[in-house]
Amino acid sequence: MAGTICDVCRTEGEVQVLASRLGAASFAYCTTCFQVGAEPLGAVVATVWTLGWENIHPWSETVIEASLERMGMTREQLDEAVSETDKQYRAEFER
Ligand SMILES: [Zn+2]
Repeated sequence: MAGTICDVCRTEGEVQVLASRLGAASFAYCTTCFQVGAEPLGAVVATVWTLGWENIHPWSETVIEASLERMGMTREQLDEAVSETDKQYRAEFER
């Protein structure tokens, strides 16, 4: 169901649900996030986590950079989020 909160910047307002530039998923984007080509943090983390920086296409890297800029995050903070995701995933198998 479409909401009124942007999945990228979490701002409430008018959004459009559109296909992600990073994979087979759809998210709600405000006009600004769509125009700068930013994607939600979860999609960015999933992309880096599943592919690894060494396998990310330069085009996708520009999407990730735009997303980080829009969210006010550094690449180091993204790497920490990816590392945390990996830890949580691995913990699921150690139970
Ligand atoms: Zn937004």
